[in-house]
Amino acid sequence: MISPNLPKLASELNSDASCLTSQESPSCPVGSECILPVDLVLQSSDGKLIGAHRTNMEHFSDGFPTCDSVTSTSEPVPLTEDGETLTLLLRFMHKHKYPGLTPMDAASIFALAEAAEKYMVYSAMASSHAYIEHNCKEHPVLSLCYAVKFDYPAIADAVSSLTLLVSLEEIQRLSISNHRLVYAWFRYREVYLSVATSILDRYATGARVKEHDCPFWDRYLKGTAAKIPPTSTETLKSIADEGIEKILDDEYVQILKSCDTCRDRETGWRAHTRKRILQAPKFSELL
Ligand SMILES: [Zn+2]
Ligand SMILES: [Zn+2]
Repeated sequence: MISPNLPKLASELNSDASCLTSQESPSCPVGSECILPVDLVLQSSDGKLIGAHRTNMEHFSDGFPTCDSVTSTSEPVPLTEDGETLTLLLRFMHKHKYPGLTPMDAASIFALAEAAEKYMVYSAMASSHAYIEHNCKEHPVLSLCYAVKFDYPAIADAVSSLTLLVSLEEIQRLSISNHRLVYAWFRYREVYLSVATSILDRYATGARVKEHDCPFWDRYLKGTAAKIPPTSTETLKSIADEGIEKILDDEYVQILKSCDTCRDRETGWRAHTRKRILQAPKFSELL
């Protein structure tokens, strides 16, 4: 077997000019299975040179700034994506099996999704969208940013409640200050925060609502208050994690069975609170 590291003979190097060119060009990320000539070189943001093919750029994408604007084949085309992302993206621009995304880390997949949408590489758009749609709840903030930026409202609505406890700073940082997203998120959180505060105010010790003298109400409040989280943030977390029903599950209502006034007031208040959550706008409706 001939080692690939052995120096080539001068006669081998000079025998064919096109061969020499291809040997000096960066290789195509698909490797030896790709027999297309490299006639375009991309330069990633981290300085990696990657071989590409103009025909594939035209056939597999609608947005690469290479074919129209670049005429020289010798100059690398600088792009803002890193080498890993570009390499992966180019593998989606060949007529061969596309790479599986499952073994990759989330950051790489979201970077691929971003590049695929930017350059409109439909094969990579579809693969990354399918992955994110399936795994969005594991990466709620990144998924929300992706969904808002590239207009996938179903994903935004699927993960928005899981971002309720994330800080505003984190939302701004990960969305790269996408004002549309930040504003919608702020309004979305306000609805839930308002419900959490109202639940807490009603049941917190020292904030009792006592509208008539009744021996049952104090006992009822005492039992119910014990299961309500002590702060509005924690109440919000319960709503986000387990849903409003967990909070409003009225296991102590039996205490009020002898007082129609208290029971009706409590049933009405719970129904009203449920309604506030059920009728809260979806995230996509706030965009
Ligand atoms: Zn190739
Ligand atoms: Zn009563």
